[in-house]
Amino acid sequence: MKTDPFTWLGNRSILFKLLLVIFFAALLVNVVISAVFHSLTQQPRGRLVHFIQGYTDFVIRDLGDPPQLERAMRFVDDFGLNIYFIGKTNRWATTGRLEDLNEVKLSRFHSGLGMDYGYDGRKIFFRLIKPQGEFYFSPDFVIDPPRHQIWIALLVMMMSAIFLAIYALIRRIFRQLFVLRQGVWEVSQGNLEVQIPVNSFDELGQISRSFNEMTAQVRGQLRSKEQLLLNVSHELRSPLTRMKLQLEFLEDETMKSRLGWEVAVMDHMLEELLESARLEHEYGVLRKTPVDLVGLVHRCLEEVLPSPQCARLTVPDQAVVISLDERRIYSLLKNLLENGLKYSNPLQTPLQINLQTTSTEVYFCLQDFGEGIPSEDLPHIFEAFYRVDKSRNQRTGGYGLGLALCKKIAEAHGGSLSVQSQRGWGSTFTLRLPLVN
Ligand code: ADP
Repeated sequence: MKTDPFTWLGNRSILFKLLLVIFFAALLVNVVISAVFHSLTQQPRGRLVHFIQGYTDFVIRDLGDPPQLERAMRFVDDFGLNIYFIGKTNRWATTGRLEDLNEVKLSRFHSGLGMDYGYDGRKIFFRLIKPQGEFYFSPDFVIDPPRHQIWIALLVMMMSAIFLAIYALIRRIFRQLFVLRQGVWEVSQGNLEVQIPVNSFDELGQISRSFNEMTAQVRGQLRSKEQLLLNVSHELRSPLTRMKLQLEFLEDETMKSRLGWEVAVMDHMLEELLESARLEHEYGVLRKTPVDLVGLVHRCLEEVLPSPQCARLTVPDQAVVISLDERRIYSLLKNLLENGLKYSNPLQTPLQINLQTTSTEVYFCLQDFGEGIPSEDLPHIFEAFYRVDKSRNQRTGGYGLGLALCKKIAEAHGGSLSVQSQRGWGSTFTLRLPLVN
């Protein structure tokens, strides 16, 4: 499958993109500098070649036609210039070794002026092709061979060192960004208590400070909302109790039972709200005692299941005793079981219940094969008052408080409650509790 390069780049980290920009900027700067340098040296180089050509033409004329070795020998003594000649009828070399030329690698020196130059690893050679034959001129001094490998190795090492230094520098500059990213992730996971350390005073430092202020504000607002809910729930309790009493004196039985049901629903809702608020504020309220979780699950199933065929149970053979608030964990299990029954057809496909322990934790998994939860609702399922089916109907009729309370109970015990679900395939709720808490 082909990936769009922009999408590919878009998915990389900001650090990688910055390094890429720096790399290409360095490359472009190099190309521009080389181009300018080349154009600046072009003219003097052309003149130099012109000069050498004029000089060699003069030497060629002086050698006579056909060119004489004896005359050429003068240039060796006077100017330290070796000459090689390859003509149609004769060939010679002032060094006496024509085979020197076999080593010379010739390349075009300056195309416009029609002159070649070469190098045999020690000396430089100029070649001119004339009607008499090929002339090679080589000044009698040694030029050290360029040490390409050493220079390339040095270049690679220096480039790598520069890149490493740039990488470390950018990482340091963007350190605050990584801390901020971690903080944002924590908030997305529902942890509003997060406060990120701020060690810089640049823009990233300012954003981080604003982030800390923002989470503190949201925390405050949530607390005041919860406090309001708690106060209202408290205030509603007394009139509700009075209503219950007055209901007893009502003579119309139909009216009495209808109102009685509504009052019971309100009472239940208030109780859940108060319980939720209590758990939020005082984790100390848990009344922990050593409880056998296997026995607790059995008791809960007996109370909630309409028939034993509605569930398949896999639990350890021996008791799993842990310290927990029995009443609250019982209500958590009950809530999960009731939801499983409500949102699936357990007589057709029974609920699957597993209790497993590791050396440090115990896992209670409840799987139903019912309608499942749409993926867009899944992240909100543990929020108070959140319901997938926004309209309360007769069958499912809750307020969306049950799961929020269950999560709080699990967390108050140092554990967690999570869900996996797929629309049309069912849901699995997993309660994890630490064995020692
Ligand atoms: P409610 O009292 O409305 O059931 P809960 O907090 O227990 O409140 O559940 C919240 C919402 O989560 C429910 O309205 C329901 O849409 C969804 N839900 C809970 N459990 C299940 C389940 N086992 N299968 C499908 N949906 C579920």
